[in-house]
Amino acid sequence: MAKRLILMGPPGGGKGTQAKRLQERYGIPQLSTGDMLRAAVKAGTPIGKQAKAVMDAGQLVSDDIMIGLIDERLDQADCKAGFILDGFPRTIPQAEALDKLLASKNMKLDSVIEVQVPDAKLVERITGRFTCSTCGEGYHDTFKQPKKAGLCDVCGGTTFSRRADDNAETVAARLAAYHAQTAPLLPYYEGKGLLHVVDGDRDMDVVTADLEAI
Ligand code: AMP
Repeated sequence: MAKRLILMGPPGGGKGTQAKRLQERYGIPQLSTGDMLRAAVKAGTPIGKQAKAVMDAGQLVSDDIMIGLIDERLDQADCKAGFILDGFPRTIPQAEALDKLLASKNMKLDSVIEVQVPDAKLVERITGRFTCSTCGEGYHDTFKQPKKAGLCDVCGGTTFSRRADDNAETVAARLAAYHAQTAPLLPYYEGKGLLHVVDGDRDMDVVTADLEAI
């Protein structure tokens, strides 16, 4: 049976890491709108050009652009068996548009999972993170250094990168956007009987086990 999930939670709460694990475990794709936008910025597409300044300011890209991106993505063959939405929807209009899109594609959401992490933990989590530029493996200055300094544990790559928006000022704006625009989706999905809550302020493997149980 298809599995269609939304992972919700604040920036830096571990959605991306956990979505990648679920993708491997269940063979359904992680649909990260943040990754899609970063790829568009890198490729210099019209959407990328429009989105860059908004992302650098820690604000939200327009609902129309985001809904268009997801509409196209859901039509790709790898979404037939399900998907894990990571970073979408982020506003009530996006959630309402998603409901319509899914209905028109004869798809039904199974669960919405909120990965909860207190604000006080998020700034350190976000500002310390970096990834292998070759394979995308995630690391952290304090919590997860590569075993050998400068060498990726997974692929042996030697270049690492940090997101342009992972700095203290932008993080504050991203958190404010989360609380003002995205947190209202929690009662929205609770009202539909779809919401599950997982404590994300624990060891990564324990969080994964809880997600798998759901
Ligand atoms: P993320 O990788 O999910 O933290 O997203 C990085 C940035 O991309 C966000 O701070 C927003 O500027 C933008 N973004 C990603 N997904 C969305 C979305 N669903 N709606 C609006 N903006 C988004």
